[in-house]
Amino acid sequence: MANDFEKHIASVKDFPNKGIIFRDITPVLQDGKLFQAATHKLAEYVKSKNADIIVGPEARGFIVGCPVATELGIGFVPARKPHKLPREVERASYDLEYGSNSLEIHKDAIKPGQRVVVCDDLLATAGTLRACKQLIENLGGELVGSCFYIELPDLKGKEKLPGLDVFSLVKYH
Ligand code: 5GP
Repeated sequence: MANDFEKHIASVKDFPNKGIIFRDITPVLQDGKLFQAATHKLAEYVKSKNADIIVGPEARGFIVGCPVATELGIGFVPARKPHKLPREVERASYDLEYGSNSLEIHKDAIKPGQRVVVCDDLLATAGTLRACKQLIENLGGELVGSCFYIELPDLKGKEKLPGLDVFSLVKYH
């Protein structure tokens, strides 16, 4: 599957800024069988972690994480950009590969002691993942793993979260 999957990721030069190669996952989503296979792989991983709930950061984390949650019959928590969620929130700031931002989750989204896995399309510098970890732990949850379609190991995101298990379908060097 990994080869087929890799063939369906479009590499777009100089997007959104000059010097960035953007890995576009939308061709994977357009192929129903491949989208399903990718979802199954991530679901196997999340199941192996015995997770109670998935956190997915806006916006591609919703696309990647929601089908995994429904396949396993577990909950999904959206981590959203500021001022999008209507009730009381927990907020954390993070750095992106390009720029910076904050993420919020509802304060009642995660119960103390719950086992949480973060799902997203891509791991780069891990700023997003670290913000999710902070949000999860501030609410008393335990981040037990993380999974992605794509990982960029050269950006050393994993090193910023020592001890955290990371699973990805493809790596780009
Ligand atoms: P990080 O916080 O690990 O540096 O960046 C990962 C986040 O930025 C993810 O939420 C991901 O959606 C987005 N991102 C950064 N670079 C890319 C890219 O090349 N392709 C895609 N699809 N998303 C990216």
